[in-house]
Amino acid sequence: MTQHETVAFIGLGQMGRPMSGHLAKAGYRIRAFDASPETLSAVAAESGATACASAAEAAHGAELLITMLPDGKIVRQVLLDAGVAAALPKRATVLDMSSSDPVGTRALGESLAALGLTLIDAPVSGGVARAKTAQLSIMAGGDPATIERLRPILETMGNRVFLTGPLGSGHAMKALNNYVSAAGLAAVCEALVVGRAFGLDPAAMNEVLNASTGKNNTTEVKVKQFLLSGAFNSGFSAGLMTKDLATAADLADAMGIAAPFAHDCVAVWRKMVAALGAGADHTEFFRFSGGNAR
Ligand code: NAD
Repeated sequence: MTQHETVAFIGLGQMGRPMSGHLAKAGYRIRAFDASPETLSAVAAESGATACASAAEAAHGAELLITMLPDGKIVRQVLLDAGVAAALPKRATVLDMSSSDPVGTRALGESLAALGLTLIDAPVSGGVARAKTAQLSIMAGGDPATIERLRPILETMGNRVFLTGPLGSGHAMKALNNYVSAAGLAAVCEALVVGRAFGLDPAAMNEVLNASTGKNNTTEVKVKQFLLSGAFNSGFSAGLMTKDLATAADLADAMGIAAPFAHDCVAVWRKMVAALGAGADHTEFFRFSGGNAR
């Protein structure tokens, strides 16, 4: 894809807003839609994207349609039930950057192919901070030639693009990544709370973890900034994290693999969501574990 081409962008939340902003800044003509009118007008004012009255209207004349929606069910509903696929020009490409479920993505790919459309799954990792700096890690599944054609677009939003294999493989990789991430965060929270009860200082503990084998993304990026500060404002909700974990556990089931730890992890995160709400920041797992801000 070259700049000045028309790209429809559906879903302008914590992630879609900065991601679509980078594309607009790079010269792509963005036709945007979000279910929240306030979000839509804020994005249009900030990036110069054209605010459309519906997702189907955004799809008109777009060679590429990007979805950055909460989950795969909503992506499917928008594409097939809300008339978006039918509104796209023939041979257009759909790029689902949401963290959707891989089995559903394969099925959606078949439905779209029957309409002459190509689906690529390209979920992202790095959070809101790296969405803002266009340094996302992108896991792309589907036809390799199509992904190569989309590379300029992907590299406008991210700095690492991985070709993970056939359609759905990006979504499988993303769910498994978030399983590892959520399990690591939960372990760090519990360790900090237990350590503090024993008399260790959590900030000092984190320094030791970062110089030792317990180091992970939570200790490196989240403990100081979001947990111990009490800010809890990473921009990634506990509800979405739990959805990704459940996707990973469902994938294990679909593969006939027991994965008991993944299932336990889903159960713990569901308890956290029941206690603090799906809209709580995922870093509030620390509060759920009994950690208080310092
Ligand atoms: P968000 O809730 O902030 O944004 C989702 C947006 O989709 C909202 O603005 C909402 O109004 C809109 N929306 C919902 N249903 C819609 C519909 N039917 N039609 C049009 N718009 C609709 O979520 P987010 O944090 O931006 O996450 C988006 C996706 O990216 C999710 O799949 C999430 O798991 C994934 N993700 C999030 C992060 C993060 O740090 N926030 C990081 C990596 C991946």
